[in-house]
Amino acid sequence: MGPPGAGKGTQAKKLVEKFGMTHLSSGDIFRAEKSSGSDLGKQLAQYMLAGKLVPDEIVVEMMAKAIADGDAEAGLMLDGFPRTVAQAKALDEQLAAAGSEMDAVVSIVVPDSEIVGRITGRRSCSCGQAYHVMFIPPKVEDVCDVCGAKLTQRADDTEEVVKERLEAYHAQTKPVIDYYSSCGEVRVLEVDGSKTPDEVSEDLAAALNALQQ
Ligand code: AMP
Repeated sequence: MGPPGAGKGTQAKKLVEKFGMTHLSSGDIFRAEKSSGSDLGKQLAQYMLAGKLVPDEIVVEMMAKAIADGDAEAGLMLDGFPRTVAQAKALDEQLAAAGSEMDAVVSIVVPDSEIVGRITGRRSCSCGQAYHVMFIPPKVEDVCDVCGAKLTQRADDTEEVVKERLEAYHAQTKPVIDYYSSCGEVRVLEVDGSKTPDEVSEDLAAALNALQQ
């Protein structure tokens, strides 16, 4: 968990490489549906482009399916879900019904003042490689180092939309961290997301390894 631009996707990918779980990103799942041009995708796009959260009923149904289809043996790394207390409760029910449970919640902490600069500089390639114009620039402007394709910017990574997303984070998603902290059954691990991606990843791996001991 973390505000937009905290590095959830980047850290989830690194952790998946280290620990071998399956990465399930609600944002990626919704963007794929949007790209398919389906009616559902068009509905999702309206919320995403406005920086609003997609309604819980839609999210819970789509994520329940993705989780049920996921490789439970390998373990799941949920990225961007749950984002409301209602989603967290629905997830609890699904996990309990499957005889499973959450091992830990990771909260990546980044001050609001850093968020807009982080987000508006983000660029990505369809091959999955992520860049930032200041912090992780490609060797040639707007061209992917890995595959040579032209880099793109997410349609919701504009200053105006980021402000909405940040508001949604504070109003609807932060209470989810309090929900897990107060239930006492799930460990909430906080990491300082202002450090470099490699440092954050080391801190996270250390915190998760400590959990397993
Ligand atoms: P992300 O890629 O995680 O930044 O998500 C991009 C956008 O997808 C968000 O700004 C929301 O509009 C939508 N979204 C992703 N995950 C959720 C969720 N769990 N609940 C509601 N909306 C979501």
